[in-house]
Amino acid sequence: MNGIVYLVGAGPGAPDLLTLRAARLLEAAEIVFYDALVHADTVALAVRAEKVAVGKRSGKHSEAQLFINKRLVDAARKHKVIVRLKGGDPMIFGRAQEEIEALAQAGITCVVVPGVTAALAASAELGISLTRRGISRSVTFATPRVGREEQPSDWAASLLNADTGVLYMAAHEARQIAAQLIARGKPAGTPVMVVESASLNGAHHVTTLAGLANDGLPALQGPALLMLGEVYREALDASIRESLDSADIVATGALTQRC
Ligand code: SAH
Repeated sequence: MNGIVYLVGAGPGAPDLLTLRAARLLEAAEIVFYDALVHADTVALAVRAEKVAVGKRSGKHSEAQLFINKRLVDAARKHKVIVRLKGGDPMIFGRAQEEIEALAQAGITCVVVPGVTAALAASAELGISLTRRGISRSVTFATPRVGREEQPSDWAASLLNADTGVLYMAAHEARQIAAQLIARGKPAGTPVMVVESASLNGAHHVTTLAGLANDGLPALQGPALLMLGEVYREALDASIRESLDSADIVATGALTQRC
């Protein structure tokens, strides 16, 4: 008898954003395969399990994925409860389908347990809704990341008509992305919110597409999302006002010192 493989969403980082279903499965698991972005305290909930890190190094994604698929199948032939723990939600940029198909081909039952995806954790932290009456009625999750052996993708097209866009795996090339969106016709003044390490004492930074194209991003420590659209306009205006106010203070300070 084969075991069941559970593809479990670990949420965006903070261990207490895990679902109860995920926590119960971790407690019951005999073996857990976990990704690089999963918090150590979340993995530690699997008290009885053998714990296997399967984080992928960039450039080796496809080979690594085939290896993971094989390890899941092998584990299901030995154990009853196998947990494959993925950051955020498994069905959003998580390569879940490849694992689901590999398991189906091997005749192994696979069950998916959803998790809180990064975009939702980031929105919660900002206190800014992805949708908003009269301003945003559509949300697009996209990524510019294309694997080496994949067809090129027109990810930018999907953002041109979305009211709110969320870009995953995009922060390292933020400058080129902003330039490309402007070149494709997205207004240069579109507000952009950059959210880093959402749910884990993260930081955020608001700018415009033009600002991002010109200045790029400050150095980031953790995973980050680029979020864009008019829903971030008020936050952008507030941040501009704040920087003008602090420029005043600096100017006044300089004057005081001179006197
Ligand atoms: N399945 C995951 C996404 C995996 S792709 C999910 O549903 O969230 C990995 C990308 O997700 C990172 O490059 C980054 O863009 C984003 N990401 C993951 N965790 C994040 C976090 N805590 N804060 C901001 N972005 C995050």
